[in-house]
Amino acid sequence: MPWPAALNLLAPLAPWFDRMRRDLPWRAHNLDAPHPDPYAVLVSELMLQQTQVATVVPYFNRWLERFPTPQALAEADEDTVHKAWEGLGYYRRARFLKAAAASVAAEGWPEDLEGLTRLPGLGPYSAAAVGAIAFQWPAPALDGNAFRVLARLLLIEGDPKIRAAELRAWLVPALEAHGPSRLTQAIMELGATVCTPTPDCGACPLADACAARRAERTGEIPPAGKRAKPKESSIWLVAMEAEGHLLLHAPAAKGLLAGLWRWPTIDASEGVPQPPLPGSFPMLAWPGWTQVYTHRREAVNPLHLRLNARFQAAGGLRWIPAADLSTLPLGKRDQRLRGLLATPGQTPLEAPDPGALIRACAAPLG
Ligand code: SF4
Repeated sequence: MPWPAALNLLAPLAPWFDRMRRDLPWRAHNLDAPHPDPYAVLVSELMLQQTQVATVVPYFNRWLERFPTPQALAEADEDTVHKAWEGLGYYRRARFLKAAAASVAAEGWPEDLEGLTRLPGLGPYSAAAVGAIAFQWPAPALDGNAFRVLARLLLIEGDPKIRAAELRAWLVPALEAHGPSRLTQAIMELGATVCTPTPDCGACPLADACAARRAERTGEIPPAGKRAKPKESSIWLVAMEAEGHLLLHAPAAKGLLAGLWRWPTIDASEGVPQPPLPGSFPMLAWPGWTQVYTHRREAVNPLHLRLNARFQAAGGLRWIPAADLSTLPLGKRDQRLRGLLATPGQTPLEAPDPGALIRACAAPLG
């Protein structure tokens, strides 16, 4: 059955959004004109990938104060950029944002959607969102929230992502008629606040037209995706201190952890840890926690080991003056140990062999 025209079906969304829109710092006041600061839209879209609005708001405000223009971000050094992103996770986004800013600073903003899609870090969804919100291009931006709203509205069976091309074509006339920026943000807002996984249909401006609501199938449309079971691991996360210095891995140039300093770790899932030997190196421990990543869960056991003297560290590890620790960009897990170091720890009930820890971090002899 063909879908009813989006132009009519989505018409109640635009006035609803004008009444109900949340006041977010990257939202323009006038939604009928191009955004006065496309860079602010770009920053918000990159930050909002994988991260909740409430978390993003303070980061966004600080970021714009610190790097107010693409030029300022392009010229900032990597450590400063990573430090400003610290705590948001998925640090690749910070590097993409810097690279995208460098491209805009050098060549200006792209003139079409294809050009936006070529900016680092912008996939089809983010490029369309920036195109619609910053430039008023009628580019349909479909993320998980939008797919959920449209799947219910149109009673799409199965995974709505399979119908992405049809849905994009269906949306274009409505974007043109109701305003690309307004309608794009209205769909996002509805998905984030009303048509959530457990929808509040009584508060929905589309309730009369919604096919899933009429069929009483909102709970099963769209079907929940199957998630792979996360991999489990367990580690000791170790702050080794000697002569006023702490040992950390220097940032990798590439990969998921690029740009971030890291504490040394050793696998805690194999071998039975021993009670610490009396009279050996002093150790402190804190209660552990589970660090949850997209595809894995890591049991983290934090430790502090104080040594009498520094040793020659293995390649990639550096002794950092303890006073500089607060200036280094660290990932979430490693920030947590940094915070714990300022709190009282306890003698661990069990711990890895300090000799094994040192051997794991020392340069080979000879
Ligand atoms: S009526 Fe309910 S299910 Fe349908 S779009 Fe609105 S909130 Fe979503």
